[in-house]
Amino acid sequence: MSASKNTLLRELPNVHESIQFLSALESLKGIPLKRLKFCTRLYLNELRQTLLADQDTVKKLSDKKGILDALALFIQRYHRPHFKKVINGTGIIVHTNLGRSPLPESVLDWLHVLTEGYCNLELDLETGKRGSRYQHVESLLCELTGAESGLIVNNNAAAVFLTLNTLAKDKEVIVSRGQLVEIGGSFRIPDIMDRSGAKLVEIGTTNRTHYHDYQQAITPETALLLRVHCSNYRIIGFTSDVPARELAQLGKAHNIPVMEDLGSGCLIDLSRYGLAKEPIVQEIVASGVDIVTFSGDKLLGGPQAGIIIGKKPLIDQIKKNPLNRMLRIDKLTLAALEAVLRLYLDEGRVFEELPTLEMIATPEGSVRARAEYFVETYTAQLQDHCHFDILSTFSQVGGGAVPEQNLPSWAVTVQPINLRISQLEERLRHTAVPVLTRIETGELLIDMRTVADEEMPALAASLHSALLLKP
Ligand SMILES: *Cc1c(COP(=O)(O)O)cnc(C)c1O
Repeated sequence: MSASKNTLLRELPNVHESIQFLSALESLKGIPLKRLKFCTRLYLNELRQTLLADQDTVKKLSDKKGILDALALFIQRYHRPHFKKVINGTGIIVHTNLGRSPLPESVLDWLHVLTEGYCNLELDLETGKRGSRYQHVESLLCELTGAESGLIVNNNAAAVFLTLNTLAKDKEVIVSRGQLVEIGGSFRIPDIMDRSGAKLVEIGTTNRTHYHDYQQAITPETALLLRVHCSNYRIIGFTSDVPARELAQLGKAHNIPVMEDLGSGCLIDLSRYGLAKEPIVQEIVASGVDIVTFSGDKLLGGPQAGIIIGKKPLIDQIKKNPLNRMLRIDKLTLAALEAVLRLYLDEGRVFEELPTLEMIATPEGSVRARAEYFVETYTAQLQDHCHFDILSTFSQVGGGAVPEQNLPSWAVTVQPINLRISQLEERLRHTAVPVLTRIETGELLIDMRTVADEEMPALAASLHSALLLKP
């Protein structure tokens, strides 16, 4: 053991003297004593371990005062809420790591009204008796999609699992090899299938699956024909798959239900905004598919939820599955989902009000104007520390929708004067309002498609503190 390591170990304050020091600090005012003690023990234990293992990482700490100051800074940061508002400068609209779809203000106001006190979550106000929490949202879903019936669970992964478990436990489910997808977060169709109790029957090849492949695989054990939307990849070139309509007919002829896991679940045709045509929910329902599942927080633009719609007898069966209760959503989600779906009743309004759709629909010229405005407004304030420019770039929809598809966009580029680009990128993640950026060909880009007008002052403030290094 080196001498300085020993010195530092001897210098380590005990909890009692630490608390005496911390209690007098203005920066830690209001933090309960119990939490101060908890954080102090956490910090001192870790520091002791580090000192015993490797002294290099604690070189900065020279004496007891140094340790106490570092402890105070640690607690100040540790006590901040974990969740922070961040600014999304990545240009990825449905960004799973950043909470997917932002909710509109009108929906948040509504949540406030509903959840501040009590609400009629499971009470039928007509009769005064117990009602269903899902009824209203279910009717809306049916109105918007043309489905007979519907059900909402925690997320789309749960929707797929619950459907398979209800309709195909101990039976066979036929899936094309080209559709055995893995999406992020360990959701893999074969694994979900296995856990649900259904037996996977793979047919066709990676690039081509034909009608007769399905036909030949049908046995008395077949419970379901499953299509899975290739949400985050494309198979291109010499390919073939069986359209929903044909599969629905095959299922009908054999009295076997057909399910489509759509993933993103878009209710509006986005091809007029320059995107490739994604299947829209209403079309899949109209094609005769019996069950359709999709997410609430991808292209739909709502809260996290899994939506199951389809033929009433099948949905009724799924509703009765005891697992349904375990995948139940709470009143906040339900209220937000109802409010978001109500926006879809008016197609003009939904593009103005729902941030996810609004960001997709914003014309390239408006994004450019936003980038120019930012540069003009904040250059004077920051020109001693960085140079701004604007750059033509591409945004992405994200969330496993329209992969490989780029939306023309504009970014503000930031060239710091006294920092490396990678340092600025890192510092921007540690400001009071962190900013997530993209580094491309050696430049730091802030894609203005995913930055709201109201966020520009906060963006400038974060840049300012990152460039000047204020914690
Ligand atoms: C995203 C996705 C899922 C999972 O949806 P979550 O809402 O994230 O649980 C399932 N299937 C497909 C095809 C998807 O794209």
